[in-house]
Amino acid sequence: MFKLFYENPYLRETTAKIESVERKGKKIRIKLDRTIFYPEGGGQPSDRGIIEGEGFRIKVEKAEGKEEIWHEGKLEGREPKEGEKVKLLLDWEWRYENMKQHSGQHVLSAVLKKLYDSDTTGFQIFERYNKIEINFDGKLSWEHVLKAEKLANEIIWKDLEVKVEYYEELPKEVAKELRKQLSDKIKDRVRIVKVGDIDIIPCGGTHVRSTKEVGLVKVINFYKKSKNIWRVEFVCGNRALEFLDEILEDYWKSLNEMPNKNRPLVERIKEFKEGLKALEDEKTKLRKELWEWKGKALLSEAEEINGIKIVSRIESLPMKDAEAFAIYLVDKNPNTIALIMGKSYLIFAKNKGIQKVSMVELLKEILSEFGGGGGGGEVLAKGGGFKAKPEEVLKKAREKLKHSLQS
Ligand SMILES: [Zn+2]
Repeated sequence: MFKLFYENPYLRETTAKIESVERKGKKIRIKLDRTIFYPEGGGQPSDRGIIEGEGFRIKVEKAEGKEEIWHEGKLEGREPKEGEKVKLLLDWEWRYENMKQHSGQHVLSAVLKKLYDSDTTGFQIFERYNKIEINFDGKLSWEHVLKAEKLANEIIWKDLEVKVEYYEELPKEVAKELRKQLSDKIKDRVRIVKVGDIDIIPCGGTHVRSTKEVGLVKVINFYKKSKNIWRVEFVCGNRALEFLDEILEDYWKSLNEMPNKNRPLVERIKEFKEGLKALEDEKTKLRKELWEWKGKALLSEAEEINGIKIVSRIESLPMKDAEAFAIYLVDKNPNTIALIMGKSYLIFAKNKGIQKVSMVELLKEILSEFGGGGGGGEVLAKGGGFKAKPEEVLKKAREKLKHSLQS
């Protein structure tokens, strides 16, 4: 398997010969004598593209493998055969962006090493952004991160050459310059990537020729992952532009939603929150007033049995609000019991001073008659799911309560 992406990472089109064909469910997998498809590895995602032959076409979604690279995708047309010649076409936009992200990472990692002696312990390119993991003792701040970003961009704009060198055995003078020591796993020839004179590291990915092509490195977020490991998220190239455009769009749209559209947005949000708080306070005040009036009206027409007032009402409020009102009413008014029935709930509440009846006992009687479920305690009980009309349930509850109070 000849890896053309190492010879020339800018090669986006070539021909090859099929060596093996495999079926994998609805997908097809093929192995070629040579390829321009970079297989997933080292944090860089797999290439995508098209493999075309006489009478078939494979939409390559994934290339994988180390020595043997398999190209996997959806087949259109007839099944390809061993020995056939095919044309390979890369999704160049995808690959070139990945090359920019990857090369930008080398620069950012080199700067973090230089400024803070931080090693890059992990790297991943995602569809829309990239992530590195670094070690950093103490608290990483935006100040640290932006300082590194500034220096990384200064390096990128210097138009430094990115060179790839191969060594059968690594010379000592090269080995001591490496940002990261060579893995013991690497037994055969070593691939070294140099970015000007600022970074030298073993790497198996694809890179741009000049740092200038990276365009921009923008850190978008960072956070602590574990003890001294921090994740730094960043974007390069066109993906940086797309990312910033999205944030700007969100910013302007959000600002436009504000009653006062003057910048900055954070000030408008603070005003908005203050306004909301004032409205909430006003609402609470008005609700208390409403409850007072409502309570008075209900008490004036309540039945009174042995000095206990029974307020019963079919309620349209949601259960939470009805419950709050019932509690308010019985707490404020001694010798009062509230029976509140909603569409799907029933609330019994009594003033704590009333000894004679238990709300949960009353509820149990109702449940045994109309089905449903619920529970509660002496002063407050709640239920629902009755097999009868609310009016009917409420009427029965009133009768049972009156009976208890009269005896
Ligand atoms: Zn690399």
